[in-house]
Amino acid sequence: MPVSGLPPYDDTNIFARISRKEIPANIIYEDEWALAFHDINPQAPVHVLVIPKGKYCSFADFSASASPEEIAGFIRAVGKIAKDLGLEAPGYRLLSNMGMHSGQEVPHLHVHLFAGRPLGRMIPER
Ligand code: 5GP
Repeated sequence: MPVSGLPPYDDTNIFARISRKEIPANIIYEDEWALAFHDINPQAPVHVLVIPKGKYCSFADFSASASPEEIAGFIRAVGKIAKDLGLEAPGYRLLSNMGMHSGQEVPHLHVHLFAGRPLGRMIPER
């Protein structure tokens, strides 16, 4: 269910199409709850996107409307992907853009997983 005041889920968004395997992506993980693939324009040596299988526009939508099983499955998948990539020791960063001020481009919830070098400040100075 869309969050009140935000647009409804758009089934034609690029990550929905990747999830349906209509367009290619470099998929590194898939289970009942989540799909993970490399970002097409990486911002770090490791830049993976993790999306839930369900139709959720954003973190706002997912946190308000997803079932406990979907939430647990998705969060556990993010942790497992990072662990399986060997990122726990060096560390990594998770980021999810939500809405206009964040610059969210794709309206299907996604968590960015960044790693592979010291990542610097969380938010650049203006
Ligand atoms: P956002 O700004 O919505 O948080 O992030 C969207 C991300 O999706 C960007 O990092 C962008 O590079 C990535 N992206 C956009 N289109 C595609 C695509 O077709 N394939 C893949 N793998 N990544 C994409």
